Amino acid sequence: MKITPHGAAGGEVTGSSYLVETDRARVLVDCGLFQGGKDADARNRTPHGGETGRLDAALLTHAHLDHSGRLPLLAPLGFRGPVWATPATIEMTSLILHDAAKIQIGDLEKHNRHRAREGKPPLEPLYRPQDVERILSHLRPAPYHESVEVAPGISAEFVEAGHMLGSTSIRLTCRDGGRTRAVVFSGDLGPRTAPILRDFEPFRAAELVFLESTYGDRDHRPFLETVEQFLAILRQAVEEKAKILAPTFAVGRAQVLTLILARAFREGALAPFPVFLDSPMAIEASRIYARHVELFDDEMLKFLKSGSVERDLATLKLSASAAESKAINDVAGPCFIMAGAGMCTGGRILHHLRHNLGKPENHVVIVGHQSRESLGRRLVEGEKAVNIFGEKIAVRAQIHTLGGFSAHAGQSDLLAWFEKLAPSNPRVALTHGENGPRQALAARIRARFALDAALPEVGETLEA
Ligand SMILES: [Zn+2]
Repeated sequence: MKITPHGAAGGEVTGSSYLVETDRARVLVDCGLFQGGKDADARNRTPHGGETGRLDAALLTHAHLDHSGRLPLLAPLGFRGPVWATPATIEMTSLILHDAAKIQIGDLEKHNRHRAREGKPPLEPLYRPQDVERILSHLRPAPYHESVEVAPGISAEFVEAGHMLGSTSIRLTCRDGGRTRAVVFSGDLGPRTAPILRDFEPFRAAELVFLESTYGDRDHRPFLETVEQFLAILRQAVEEKAKILAPTFAVGRAQVLTLILARAFREGALAPFPVFLDSPMAIEASRIYARHVELFDDEMLKFLKSGSVERDLATLKLSASAAESKAINDVAGPCFIMAGAGMCTGGRILHHLRHNLGKPENHVVIVGHQSRESLGRRLVEGEKAVNIFGEKIAVRAQIHTLGGFSAHAGQSDLLAWFEKLAPSNPRVALTHGENGPRQALAARIRARFALDAALPEVGETLEA
């Protein structure tokens, strides 16, 4: 059998997609969007070997756009099969793909106005909401810990990956040419210290393993230390009656920050003060989380049972409408504002930054990864002035970067996950990481398990 990564290989972290081919079937594991970089759009628009030709089924490890964002392109190419994913991933994928279609159309309108001025014809969006609806109708719920036949001769088992709600690692058991082979895809793995979700569950045997390597070269700052640092910033800001802005990813980070605040308010570590969740998408994501308590870890369940989160968060305001968002401008400090986009590349956070960056008493708390060309990265790097909506804004607010809220496992956790598989002596291939981190992880795997890890390129086929 053959497995070919069609993205998130060769030193890149987006566009996750693997084509698995046996003598009887072809399935795709993930079908993610390429994000960032000059050629991302062109690559998203070019169907690859996994998207063309007969495809019996697709499987999703989790809902993040870099794993699900090219799914809507499959149906127009003739795909009629099921897309297997856990029930929570199905709900999250619906939210994320609809949002992606909306953003693409919005961005393209702007771009096309620019093209029209240059006398160029308009471009079409990668897909529209109706394409999203069409592929969502193909989604089929996959149970955890049970083997499901996803295509002729291929069965799949989904287990917890601890990375986002519904996230999984997948083991495919494939019959091919009279042999049976097990191939494991780690998906994105979460750090074991992250709150809310259960820890990842490693598989114990496979012939071939694809392991993510986003942070293959380092460990994050410990989670609890980061919480303390975060609360210290909030305490100081509250004392100074300042505004605190947090550019927040709607799925995952927004829920973690909300939980930290609820806990701090309940335990008296922080006196309650106004908090705004200024993101319709984050509000919806939080509702999906609330519907899936079966995926929460023991600590989270204990926290929910031992008090009323609603009471803890009596000062939390959900700002769904644009009018509610604008009204936050008139609120005096102290207050904490969570708004997207997580890298300040668009969204409501831009309005808040424009209003508040110029005031030295205010704070901006950066809680997630900021890609190279993002506005968030410029803030992290300490630029003295930034451009927002074509206006030059002086950066006088205090910028804090907190590295310990990552949704990705650090090196030690990646090795702990792999440790359970190592005794079965599998071939291991490192993907979903820049070359530095994946080479570092390969060196650790060689030193600890005496196994040589492959570092495949996009389009490079591995056999099992
Ligand atoms: Zn992810």
